[in-house]
Amino acid sequence: MVTIATLGEFALIERFFAPTAATLPTGVVLGVGDDAAVLSIPRTQQLVVTTDTLVEGVHFLPDADPLLLGQKALRVNLSDMAAMAAQPHWYLLSLALPKETPLTWLEGVVNGLRQAAVRPGGEVALIGGNTTAAPLGARSITITMLGLLGKDRAVTRGGAQVGDRIWLSGTIGDAALGLAAARGELTDLDEADRLYLTGRQQLPDPPLELARALQDSAYSRAAIDVSDGLLADLGHICRASKVGARLDLHKIPLSEAARRQVAGQGDALWPALLAGGEDYELLFTAAPSVQSQIEQLATQFGVRLSEIGEVVAGSGVEVSRDGVTLPMAQQGWDHLR
Ligand code: ADP
Ligand code: MG
Repeated sequence: MVTIATLGEFALIERFFAPTAATLPTGVVLGVGDDAAVLSIPRTQQLVVTTDTLVEGVHFLPDADPLLLGQKALRVNLSDMAAMAAQPHWYLLSLALPKETPLTWLEGVVNGLRQAAVRPGGEVALIGGNTTAAPLGARSITITMLGLLGKDRAVTRGGAQVGDRIWLSGTIGDAALGLAAARGELTDLDEADRLYLTGRQQLPDPPLELARALQDSAYSRAAIDVSDGLLADLGHICRASKVGARLDLHKIPLSEAARRQVAGQGDALWPALLAGGEDYELLFTAAPSVQSQIEQLATQFGVRLSEIGEVVAGSGVEVSRDGVTLPMAQQGWDHLR
């Protein structure tokens, strides 16, 4: 089998990461190939930087499809960019790989990255990275993404105001169910639902363009991407904004597949859906007065948006149904516990 060791570090960089186009991407003065990349930042903009790592055994199983992994590695960073309402432009790729890693695996990851980097706003360009051996066996993929934003226009976690409505894109809990399905934990699942749910876990679809449009029109006051579970991430907004939140369980958007699971398993499933990680949906708050404008943007960008509750005085997240507060013990995914 041809492995990455067959090729060696420098041939590998040359083959996969050296620039192929004759012209440099926008803003890139110097890209892959030197000791560091050099970027030009327009005077009116601020640089937005984020990083995320996928580790074998933590974020993906050893037999995960490398093409999907590459796409996911890029998209989870796009999701953070969406949460800030920044326009992503460049990324760095750091790989730690056991020497036995098949070359075809790396090829798949690189193709996935390239596919996910093509966006309506232009291609996010690879400008550098690092490649190192991982002696202990687990593969890891780290992406650092850089984007631009008009000066002081970032949508942070700290801007929520009492009376704001809480909005959520897409549906919640699918990735948690998808992971459970992949582990063989959901037995009464038909094949179509299994495919849908595992697909949602493997390939998030953060609403980047909608997030930017919401920011452009100054509708979103606070935002976060739901990576650690709805309850935990809404909790982050509450703490940063010094407010509380009230969610209405009837309004929480579920996919048809998740709905069927709730119908089968009952209410016991709700905490797992609300606390399960990797949804990569956009959670934001906005004044009640802009509801119809927000709904118009959702239609325009073809994104499902649901108003799920409201920002209240106080602290913490309360979930209720028909006026009854529900106990929610699990508050989300904590990587270190
Ligand atoms: P240095 O030793 O100076 O840090 P390297 O030999 O690690 O440089 O890398 C050489 C060039 O290849 C650099 O421009 C670096 O950004 C790029 N590079 C290395 N690994 C990757 C990678 N996985 N993805 C993209 N670019 C990479
Ligand atoms: Mg150097």
